[in-house]
Amino acid sequence: MDNAQIADCFSLLAKLMDIHGENSFKAKSYANTAFTVDKLTVQLSTLPTESLFSIKGIGESGGKKIIELLETGELSVLNQLIEKTPDGILEMLNIKGIGPKKIATIWKEMEIESVGELLYACKENRLKLYKGFGEKTQQNVIETIEYYLKSKGSFLFSQVEALVFPLKSFFTKVFYPHNFQVVGAYARHLESMDAIEIVVDNSLAAIENILSEVVDFELIEENNDDLLYNTIGSLKIRVYGCDEIPFIKQVFLKNSSVEFEDFFTKSFPAINYASCENEAAVFEQAGIRFIPAFQREKESIIEFAKHNQLPALLQVSDIKGIIHCHSNWSDGNNTIEQMATAAIAKGLEYLVISDHSKSAFYAKGLNEERIQQQHLYIDELNKKLAPFKIFKSIESDILNDGSLDYSNAILSTFDLVIASVHSNLKMPQERAMMRLMNAIENPYTTILGHLTGRLLLSRKGYPVDHKKIIDACAANNVVIELNAHPSRLDIDWRHIDYALQKNVLLSINPDAHSIDGFDDVRYGILVAQKAMLTKAQNLSSFSLKELELFLDKKKANN
Ligand SMILES: [Zn+2]
Ligand SMILES: [Zn+2]
Repeated sequence: MDNAQIADCFSLLAKLMDIHGENSFKAKSYANTAFTVDKLTVQLSTLPTESLFSIKGIGESGGKKIIELLETGELSVLNQLIEKTPDGILEMLNIKGIGPKKIATIWKEMEIESVGELLYACKENRLKLYKGFGEKTQQNVIETIEYYLKSKGSFLFSQVEALVFPLKSFFTKVFYPHNFQVVGAYARHLESMDAIEIVVDNSLAAIENILSEVVDFELIEENNDDLLYNTIGSLKIRVYGCDEIPFIKQVFLKNSSVEFEDFFTKSFPAINYASCENEAAVFEQAGIRFIPAFQREKESIIEFAKHNQLPALLQVSDIKGIIHCHSNWSDGNNTIEQMATAAIAKGLEYLVISDHSKSAFYAKGLNEERIQQQHLYIDELNKKLAPFKIFKSIESDILNDGSLDYSNAILSTFDLVIASVHSNLKMPQERAMMRLMNAIENPYTTILGHLTGRLLLSRKGYPVDHKKIIDACAANNVVIELNAHPSRLDIDWRHIDYALQKNVLLSINPDAHSIDGFDDVRYGILVAQKAMLTKAQNLSSFSLKELELFLDKKKANN
């Protein structure tokens, strides 16, 4: 059992104790243990058991429970609590925004035991009658549940990725000699999806017949055009046949957005799909350069292709440095030196250390004194590691009024500042816009971090007017981050073309909390490719010299 799993057990234990009204002091201490364990850099399973008790934040009772978990893989007190809790109440714990105390009221006072019932009660206006549940909370609960229900059964691109390879080899065996191709949301690199889609060059009846033999495939929906299967791990697979349509036409249709497909058909009405051996042949007939599935979104790309103006695809090798990462000075796992050494080993030219700022107390945010210490330490490291360079940065919290959480004197000591919202995320658009606009207008803001605060499939993000934000970034020479974490991918790629029109720079940043996190830049690149972002317009593709020049210019304008 690894640390993350142990932390999850403690966190669930704390929540269930709160729901059942048990000793709240103890519950709090288990929540702290969960937090501590999650942040440890060493795996508890590798330590001698006696040493567990001396780790700060674990203690006697926590230590005993960790030993039980490591030895048996289970925790008896947790099992007892789970047994006493209805499934629907456990499910409510997945809904961000309703904490254990509220769930306790919902269950014990309102006698509601499922998510569906809760949504219904909100819509009947019953929730606001209870203590601690105003009109606003009720509205929030409705929105969160609707989002939760919509996302249920969906998976992030990064989660699906690992399953596609084995699935392909399975299909190769089962459907040989019939051709097949993975299409749809996965092929289009969409950020999340509810199914892997596959076109098989066979009739739907034949496909159904073949798959009925497969134990792990449970047919749950049968349509005119496709069959939907549930597989292990509740990931769904949608299989299309080719009864009345040539294979390549079916593949092309499933790999294109409606907008793209409409405009393509209007532009090239005479394509003979039946004569095409692959999708490349479709574009050959059209007389334009091949447009991969992941770029078949907006019609504008067809215009670019017609005029031979498709920009080169941004690649992982175009990333020259890591911008936005957290070291163990705040909530990261690695030392700055370890991160720098790892970046050097990847052939990168620089690293931008942007630990959390002082308002982020939960993430050990840096106060003024520690910032000074960190800067001295970075100076030392830079001497040692030259020509590689570590830039001094901070992820400064955007406060409720839109100001950043340091004085200008401190802000001016950084090479660059990333401004992000981390607190009070539940706000109406007007308030979100006020906070973001003030932060963008702050002369010390270099980059606007994760624009909406969304967490794909679990938190919607605060509402913003993307156009106004982009216009303000253009006016104030502020870079917009494309946070490459696979659950963020924020700014949404659908808004990138407007940013490019307005000459706003983007920056694909991993927001890494460990060395492994560097690799997340790839997810940022996959969505940036959809929006035709070029290396000239991506800050993290700037060479060290170019980045220095850019930052000097920005400072000179302040
Ligand atoms: Zn952040
Ligand atoms: Zn961050």
